[in-house]
Amino acid sequence: MANPGDFAYTLKQQADIVRVIGDYVKLRKSGGQNYIGLCPFHGEKTPSFSVHATRQFYYCFGCHEKGDVFAFVQKIENITFPESVRLVAQKLGIAVPKAAYASPGEAKDAQLRGKLLDVHERAVAFFQECLRRPEGARAREYLQGRGLDADTIAKFRIGYAPDSGFLLRDRLKSEFSEEVLRESGLFSWKQDDSSQPSAVSRQQEPMPGSARNDQEGADSDPNKLEASSQKPAAVSAMYSKFRNRVMFPISSDAGKVIAFTGRTLATDEKSGPKYLNSPETPIYSKSRVLFNLD
Ligand code: ZN
Repeated sequence: MANPGDFAYTLKQQADIVRVIGDYVKLRKSGGQNYIGLCPFHGEKTPSFSVHATRQFYYCFGCHEKGDVFAFVQKIENITFPESVRLVAQKLGIAVPKAAYASPGEAKDAQLRGKLLDVHERAVAFFQECLRRPEGARAREYLQGRGLDADTIAKFRIGYAPDSGFLLRDRLKSEFSEEVLRESGLFSWKQDDSSQPSAVSRQQEPMPGSARNDQEGADSDPNKLEASSQKPAAVSAMYSKFRNRVMFPISSDAGKVIAFTGRTLATDEKSGPKYLNSPETPIYSKSRVLFNLD
């Protein structure tokens, strides 16, 4: 649907419905702003198909087909609404702006990508903050040992992911939905049995790196608990993928942080690979991004 504010709505204001339909149906003026022609949707010999120029709709008195310019193009070309928006724009010689989303699905994806960029921005700031804290001492030593000075660390926004798997989650959970946190690639979770209250299953599943007690926070809110027990990954079941690692942000061409590479500071093999990269996400495709850091 075309709603005020969208590209489709603006396009409809600009589109001359008589001209667009005129590409398919021979129309003649029948007084005022009204045009008539032979209906393309049912067989007829005398015109009962009318198009109103200023009201921007068509109506057939024979078969009762009606609608706006997009409905007409959808019906006659047998295409979807987003395709009809593109086609009308093309007919009018108007470029479809990249930032305009023709369908609710596209708009939702765009909104998710925007939120994921926000999550990454908040995560970078969090990791930078942790690098400056006492627990970041080993990470600072490591970076110094690699010959990276304070300016370089600041320039590449290098940070430290603490050993606790819960600090980042707790930092972000009030600002972002479960879905956004799940899609960010920054968290792992145990698959909950959804028939069990999450508080119970959580106690049965030891979390890695649980340096702190996790009894407070989201679980004290009964609404959240009820909602989360039906979803695959409740916020309370999530923990950081990146723990005890020096964090190197990976940026897009536009300079936005879209992923991370984390270099472990642990010496045991249980802590996972030496270098851990973000998984592919809606904002990060490994094949399309060049690493700017060794
Ligand atoms: Zn008709």
